[in-house]
Amino acid sequence: MPEKVPRLSALPILTYHAIEVGDGPLSVSPKRFAEHLAAIRSLGYATTALIRSVNRLYSGGNHSVEREIAITFDDGYASVLTAAMPLLERCGFKATLFVISDLVGCRLEGRELLGWRDIAALSAAGVEIGSHTATHAVLPRLDLAELYREVGDSKRRIEDHLGQAVRYFAYPRGLATARVRRVVAECGYAGACSTVAGTNASRSDLYFLKRRELYDHDDFQAAIAKLQGKGDRRHNWVSAAWVRRLRLSEKLAGSCPQFVRAVRKLK
Ligand SMILES: [Zn+2]
Repeated sequence: MPEKVPRLSALPILTYHAIEVGDGPLSVSPKRFAEHLAAIRSLGYATTALIRSVNRLYSGGNHSVEREIAITFDDGYASVLTAAMPLLERCGFKATLFVISDLVGCRLEGRELLGWRDIAALSAAGVEIGSHTATHAVLPRLDLAELYREVGDSKRRIEDHLGQAVRYFAYPRGLATARVRRVVAECGYAGACSTVAGTNASRSDLYFLKRRELYDHDDFQAAIAKLQGKGDRRHNWVSAAWVRRLRLSEKLAGSCPQFVRAVRKLK
């Protein structure tokens, strides 16, 4: 009789952008990032590619590690290769990288983005590559043709360059209406990441996976607390307020009810 193996009951997913010394919320210094990895390790988490973890979360079965976490990087900054990878490899940790297909090899937010050759090298080293749109567009503003280009064309372009399937997507700024999520599913993605804070269970929306973001000001103890979910409520409250402001100031097409719902659930 086959041995009964526990299924994954919850999956926290972490968000990072650039691993560098710098100002602003997108930068986490290599020293701080190493502290975060130490915190992950001290809580007994294993890491793997998002697709493997999510599959285990939903299907259960052949899995012997109950505490698992996925580490994701948005935008595809060059520092993921130069600064994050050596630290991840030292811990034996896996990661997922969401790249912007039309901006590969360019710059974003004043930072250098990885080129195709580097992305292929990361993929060969075991990093899962996902799409973060073609141009980093705010998706709820787009008409249907533009949406398919950002979501579908970016997937095909990355696949053409890497010669392998792209299964996961991350929404720029975490913004996704029901219409956007439907297009992501139709384009053949297995799931998509939001910026709503929390962990994921087997009933979670595959096309609105929650993530937790660790910042440069989060030291080892703060990282432990965040990994245990202590920053989720505050993060979601701030995000919901930001989305409301965005809707008022830019007349965002459609609402982003997930943020509002996430906050309501916490109350
Ligand atoms: Zn982004």
